[in-house]
Amino acid sequence: MPWDVLSEEQRELRELVRTLARERIAPRAAEIDASHEFPWDVVELFRDQGIFGLFFDEEVGGTGTGTLLSLVSIEEVSKVCATSGLILAVQELGSLGLKLGGSDEQRAAWLPRLASGEVLAAYALTEAGSGSDSAAMRTVARRDNGEYVLDGSKRFITNAGVAGLYTVFAKTDPDAGHAGISAFLVESDAPGFEVARLEEKMGIAGSTTGELVFDGCRVPEASRLGPEGTGFRLAMRILDRSRPGVAAQALGIAQGATDYALEYARTRETMGKPIAQHQLIAAKLADMETKTEAARGLLYRFGQMADAGVPEEELTKASAMAKLLCGDVAMEVTTEAVQILGGYGYVKEYPVERFMRDAKITQIYEGTQEVQRLVIAREMLKESRAFLLAGVA
Ligand SMILES: Cc1cc2nc3c(=O)[nH]c(=O)nc-3n(C[C@H](O)[C@H](O)[C@H](O)COP(=O)(O)OP(=O)(O)OC[C@H]3O[C@@H](n4cnc5c(N)ncnc54)[C@H](O)[C@@H]3O)c2cc1C
Repeated sequence: MPWDVLSEEQRELRELVRTLARERIAPRAAEIDASHEFPWDVVELFRDQGIFGLFFDEEVGGTGTGTLLSLVSIEEVSKVCATSGLILAVQELGSLGLKLGGSDEQRAAWLPRLASGEVLAAYALTEAGSGSDSAAMRTVARRDNGEYVLDGSKRFITNAGVAGLYTVFAKTDPDAGHAGISAFLVESDAPGFEVARLEEKMGIAGSTTGELVFDGCRVPEASRLGPEGTGFRLAMRILDRSRPGVAAQALGIAQGATDYALEYARTRETMGKPIAQHQLIAAKLADMETKTEAARGLLYRFGQMADAGVPEEELTKASAMAKLLCGDVAMEVTTEAVQILGGYGYVKEYPVERFMRDAKITQIYEGTQEVQRLVIAREMLKESRAFLLAGVA
């Protein structure tokens, strides 16, 4: 057996997800992309097979198998269908506020239902005027008679209209900048809450991306996550742990594209031999494989760090680097996969154009690649490496 970073138990669970992906999700992928319909059948499959549980601890009904394996599961599903991989990544994204900042009561009320997949989750930070600069948000929440009243809107929210629970960030003190932001759990049937519209997108077509409107939306005071004013910090802690989910989606797309291009290049003949034997194509395949494996190294390192329980502040840079490299590799590799298939790469009969369209979003959401670079550089500037230069004349 080839060398593998996963333990025997982790390999068995990966095999389970891989088989489900190959046998049950792959045959649906092109249809999900073409229909632009949210794949509830895939959600059902994840529920039946306990796949959502891979993201949760045993005490709330999960498998307790840790971060690395959860990332591997997103990767495996995304190899065949990035929309389906995103369902897993966003269940984690939308649950992290509870995991990291929820009270015992809030966690007990929601985590078991999220672990089983009975309820789908969403994370609502971005607004029309505030994406990268999320602290510039304008949605407000004011106290009123033991409740909060939310007014404003959120843009580009994944799982809009299919989620039962939204983690929503709003300003409880609009004059206090970052320190004036708080986080709330908002149920989909909260009065004054509605999904105003859904976007038509380039890729991940089966995933819903929508605008949320809060018009005097009332939520109980007990739905606030953590103390008032801690929402921005919580939003960033969530992203440190969720970005690797996007990285895993990107990695899966890159590997899926590489595998498909390899098989194609083995059999497509030009000038008397398979194109894989033309050196320019062989070089592309070698670069695709090498970049994808390098990206996997960074991502799995994050998973191992999280499972080893390293201090939270060490995760920030590791997470951003994994997201940056996996996203960029997915875009490069899928573009090359289209090139290897030539004209067949450009038409919908073959999956690589879908891989290329799906790859693009991994460079944009959960912080653009530019934002990842800002995060990495900021963390580097906190580090001291002067000792390395001590002996340099
Ligand atoms: C399909 C989809 C799903 C999404 N899902 C969610 C979700 O579930 N929840 C959620 O909260 N959000 C979600 N988003 C929003 C996403 O995270 C934002 O679109 C993203 O963070 C970028 O924000 P923006 O679109 O406002 O771009 P802007 O912030 O306006 O950025 C525009 C460009 O300027 C660059 N830029 C901005 N600031 C700087 C800077 N300081 N230095 C250098 N370059 C800079 C950016 O990198 C980008 O290239 C989703 C978006 C999409 C398209």
